[in-house]
Amino acid sequence: MARQTMTDDGKPSGKYFYTYADRDGTMAIGYCQEGCNGHATSKEACDHYYQYLLDKMTRYDCRAEDALKKCLICKQWTDRYILTDDGAFSYQITLCDRHANTQGVMMAAKDLDELMRVGQ
Ligand SMILES: [Zn+2]
Ligand SMILES: [Zn+2]
Repeated sequence: MARQTMTDDGKPSGKYFYTYADRDGTMAIGYCQEGCNGHATSKEACDHYYQYLLDKMTRYDCRAEDALKKCLICKQWTDRYILTDDGAFSYQITLCDRHANTQGVMMAAKDLDELMRVGQ
């Protein structure tokens, strides 16, 4: 989730990063881990992570073996789908040959929240 960092004296810094937390602590992940200067809002931090998921953590060429489903955008029957997997969660969206690409995913889910909702 997006979190605001603290300054050294414990005040909110006004900078948000997309982070992952476990018992060992909290760390920035995705593009926010790679020289990102932080974001003014949590939404921007989420968008930064979403871009990372689409660029690096999504397979666009998956094929279902035994079932056709309808493309979420154009409603054509297809065996194709995209799979986003960041190690903690995975999301799957049925998208046809024409829509199984970054633009198609962004049409089906405009941001990370929506991806979590539509990518069951
Ligand atoms: Zn960032
Ligand atoms: Zn389609």
